[in-house]
Amino acid sequence: MRGNIRRVIPLMCALFLLLGAWGAWNLAVNGRRWFSFSSNAYARQMKREVTEGAVLDTRGVVLASTFGEERVYHSDEAVRRATVHVLGDRDGNVANGVESFMSFYLYGFDQPFGEEVKSVLYGTGRRGSDVRLTVDSALSANILGWFPAGKKGAVIVMNYRTGAVLAECSFPDFDPANVTVSVKTDPGHPFFNRAVQGMYAPGSTFKIITLSAMLEAFPDALDRRWNCDGQLTVGGHLITDAGTDLERQVVTQHGDLGLERAFRVSCNNTFARAALELNDRRLRGEAEKFGYNYNFLFRDMVVENSSYPSDNRTDREVAMTGIGQSALLCTPMQVLLSACAAANDGTVMEPRLLQSVTAPDGRETVSFSSAAFRRVLEPAVARTVRELMYQAVVSGTGSRAAVPGHRICGKTGSAEIDGRENTNAWFVGFIDEENAPWAVVVLVEDAGGGGSVAAPVAGQIFRYLLGE
Ligand SMILES: [Zn+2]
Repeated sequence: MRGNIRRVIPLMCALFLLLGAWGAWNLAVNGRRWFSFSSNAYARQMKREVTEGAVLDTRGVVLASTFGEERVYHSDEAVRRATVHVLGDRDGNVANGVESFMSFYLYGFDQPFGEEVKSVLYGTGRRGSDVRLTVDSALSANILGWFPAGKKGAVIVMNYRTGAVLAECSFPDFDPANVTVSVKTDPGHPFFNRAVQGMYAPGSTFKIITLSAMLEAFPDALDRRWNCDGQLTVGGHLITDAGTDLERQVVTQHGDLGLERAFRVSCNNTFARAALELNDRRLRGEAEKFGYNYNFLFRDMVVENSSYPSDNRTDREVAMTGIGQSALLCTPMQVLLSACAAANDGTVMEPRLLQSVTAPDGRETVSFSSAAFRRVLEPAVARTVRELMYQAVVSGTGSRAAVPGHRICGKTGSAEIDGRENTNAWFVGFIDEENAPWAVVVLVEDAGGGGSVAAPVAGQIFRYLLGE
């Protein structure tokens, strides 16, 4: 009996330590999230007793502050609308906005226990900490004006060297100071944050990933030749190139070409065949490196997981995946991160929103820190992808995002949607300059071609960022 106990005790100790380690890890990863749950009774009670801190943008512009019982937002309606999905609202209509996701700071849960005791002793009300974001509210308000009127979609601007998010807009938007019944019943779902929650086919922006996989799998990838006759049949399914209209007997043919020109003109024929040469396993492996099928747990925001399907993969589906169609689903944030890998020498940074936290006594308790999400590409591969994305803007489908005198890189996409006449228009790209490390993704739903609809919006953002 005693012998048995002696054997069991070390095991129990080990299990106990393991449990403790798991608890600490779980709190570190999910702790902030725990405070933001509206069903959390303890957090709810605490929130009633504390005056919520203010939210400021990167320049110190106050986006939200509390006077008495009332939460007051910025005086300019355009600023309110352009930042509402990042900020969220007090009623929690927007899921995971800063107002709820960062309530840990805004309600002073970060402040030492002594502060709580002091406020009880002296009968003074407690104040939460102020949160300063990386977001530029002036740029965000401009994006509101540049985005095609009446269209749905999303725009994100991020520093690809640090991960700091400069703008995150979703359309349709709404005014948090005036949430009417018509906003709540709008079939366009204005509360929904399309930038990080919307799931879409990536369209030809996925060719960034197919291209990367080709470069990694085949050392001679850039020397290979294909012949595009405009009509590729895979598994009884016809894959055509953009501009093809068989009813009017118009067929886009790119003829003899290599990967460089295929990427620049966004040739579906070539990239569908490239996907088949890679095979499903290699293409999925590449997509997963970029973040597909991964459970994102970023510190400052909740991003829906993007998916690369794992079963029922026929040749037809693999070919369609190579051009970003098939059953692929991703968020605009995922598309942005794909381009950031090329921009930042192969390393994708974690997107961040928090610039600093300041306690009521003026002490800065948290300051910006960047972290790599993961290393995705070898620097040499990233450089090649970057060069091809540069060519796509200089003399390819992304030309309307160009800014004369600057190195703009990008990729367009026009994703077909069942039952809709127009495609979803995509542009993802970046400024390839040391002192302007900005990446942009633009998605306009049901709007037409990425080159004609999304690229011009990105071009305006690039010009603003470059001060042109
Ligand atoms: Zn082609």
